[in-house]
Amino acid sequence: MSLKTIIPPSLAGKLKRLGIHKEADLLLHFPLRYDDLTKLTPIGECRTGQTVVTEAVVLGKQILYKPRRTLQVQLAEHSDSLQVQLSLRYFVFYPNTEKAFEVGKTIRVFGELRTTKTGLEMVHPKLLPLDKPLPNEHTAVYPSMAGMAQSAWHTMIGRALKNEAWLVDYLPPAVAVKYGLLGFASALHYLHLPSVAIDMADKIALAWKRIKFDELLAQQLMMRQVRSISAQESAYPALASGQLRRRLLAALPFQLTSAQTQVTQQILADCALAVPMQRLLQGDVGSGKTVVAFLAAVEVIEAGFQVAIMAPTEILAEQHYHKAVAWLAPLDIKTVWLSGAMQGKEGRTAREACSSGVAQLIIGTHALFQSKVFIPRLNLVVIDEQHRFGVKQRLALRERAKDSEHLPHMLMMSATPIPRSLAMSYYANLDVSVIDELPRGRQAITTKLVADKRRTELLGRVGEVCAEGGQAYWVCPLIEESEVVDLQNAEATFAALKLALPTLSIGLLHGRLPSEQKQSIMQQFLAHELDLLVSTTVIEVGVDVPNASLMVIEHAERFGLAQLHQLRGRVGRGTRASTCVLLYSGPLSENARARLKVIYETQDGFEIAQADLRIRGPGELLGAKQSGDQALRFADIQVDFDLLQQARDTVAELFDEPMFPRQAFVDRWFNTSVDWSKA
Ligand code: ADP
Ligand code: MG
Repeated sequence: MSLKTIIPPSLAGKLKRLGIHKEADLLLHFPLRYDDLTKLTPIGECRTGQTVVTEAVVLGKQILYKPRRTLQVQLAEHSDSLQVQLSLRYFVFYPNTEKAFEVGKTIRVFGELRTTKTGLEMVHPKLLPLDKPLPNEHTAVYPSMAGMAQSAWHTMIGRALKNEAWLVDYLPPAVAVKYGLLGFASALHYLHLPSVAIDMADKIALAWKRIKFDELLAQQLMMRQVRSISAQESAYPALASGQLRRRLLAALPFQLTSAQTQVTQQILADCALAVPMQRLLQGDVGSGKTVVAFLAAVEVIEAGFQVAIMAPTEILAEQHYHKAVAWLAPLDIKTVWLSGAMQGKEGRTAREACSSGVAQLIIGTHALFQSKVFIPRLNLVVIDEQHRFGVKQRLALRERAKDSEHLPHMLMMSATPIPRSLAMSYYANLDVSVIDELPRGRQAITTKLVADKRRTELLGRVGEVCAEGGQAYWVCPLIEESEVVDLQNAEATFAALKLALPTLSIGLLHGRLPSEQKQSIMQQFLAHELDLLVSTTVIEVGVDVPNASLMVIEHAERFGLAQLHQLRGRVGRGTRASTCVLLYSGPLSENARARLKVIYETQDGFEIAQADLRIRGPGELLGAKQSGDQALRFADIQVDFDLLQQARDTVAELFDEPMFPRQAFVDRWFNTSVDWSKA
């Protein structure tokens, strides 16, 4: 039997749109809920909140037009009753609906009861035929689309469940026993065809456990598979004496933290192998990831290769470029800046430097790899703030960087700390290095929550900080509707601040500025030619101006946690005591309040990410781009953390087990529109 024989041709398109492409997709299309239509509840026993089938006599009906066209029906147990016991209400109805409610006639309805001013009510109840016996089983209700009746789902899934070949249990019985898991077929039966047995709730819970376990196991297997395929790819080992690296270290105005030293060693060890590195470098905001990337870069350059460093924004890429020139020019390393916006001769010269191999270090935004640039000896790609890049972008980049047989080493850097559950699931295909300490001598950042009405006071404080030789950021919020409004808002704030603080030199930075202008404003701020920088969130990631010690975030309640943490990380980078002021205007939503509380109470990026995961869920945290294709549909890595761990242990046991049908297991769960084998 094939899926085609089960799905009526008229529904094929709809099912595709619901993501149902293969038999397993249909079997794993689980009910939203179960309705109990097995028994009649006498109208006198109906209570608010229950969902019941009941029978009653129609006492009267009318169509009302206020506030909108509504059909109302009054019911009672007997036709001579004087008191209405239940009302029905329909907002969408046809002449036939109305006809069905004939005064004096007995009807049977199914719906949820609620209490209104006028008594018990059902909104849009389902009308059931009086002459048909009630079902013996609970009725599964499936997520559906317009034009698809529930009965269609029941028929298709009922037939699918009869097909034993589709229900084969790929999980070895020993594993099922070890973790107390139901068989695959039983789990599906309990979920789709729930019995009226008294322990149904327990059975369904058990069935969910099995389903979630399988999903997590499939994800873990896939990740492990990705890794083992990656391990078979080749890369050029970058072997060098380390003398350039030592010279860079000696020239730095600071000493590496021991965490920086350790992760540098891990990265260098990877780059010395003939297998492409796939490493994620994690370190909280300000922990000093950039210098680690440069140390790895000079080593690979000394070995005779080219290196590319990519950042998500031009401002950040530009900043890396300036740092590279300052740090690496004394080592005679030729650095080239390549931006997507670079046209004409300038762009041509830069690209030629890349393709001739003259450029040893190439820095740019991700546009770097969309352009026609050819980098023949490319052997290390660093992606800064990798959470801003989707997996697909990363794959495209790797493909572009690939010569006939070799892949470059890849280093992804992220300040978004990854809770362990996420690291174990979505990032399981990467090696992870962590910088878990901040450089010594950093001043703690004081975070203040300030109501918008105390703005004037705050302006005084900004003036003082700048008068003492400090610098400040003033961040304007994102207003969702349009970029234009954002811009107007930032411009208005800029004008107001100039008026209020006439002695300061103030700059305005926003995403709409041409890139040279952005860069020149950033440079002015870095050189302390500007005291105060008014900005939209373009400064969110990576910007590094150690002398800036005050950050004001307007309408902080509109920002996400990760964003607030990133923004706050722009201060506290030098030796000045730093402050981050979160300006808010009430009333605050519950979520906004929760976010501000977290950011006020902790500076630990890890804790903040945990809270973020709790408030928003993993899909949001990873960004839609990344979670998309490998998103978990049923398991929740936070709630089901124990299962995740069990699945991981099981992968270790089963992965190389020759009798285990690994591919079949994975295929049941994932539609791989992305070629994960290369991720
Ligand atoms: P992030 O990890 O957020 O990218 P950066 O690499 O931008 O952090 O580093 C933040 C600041 O700390 C930079 O000014 C950098 O030069 C400085 N820095 C890096 N490592 C150290 C260190 N070991 N000691 C002192 N300052 C350091
Ligand atoms: Mg950085």
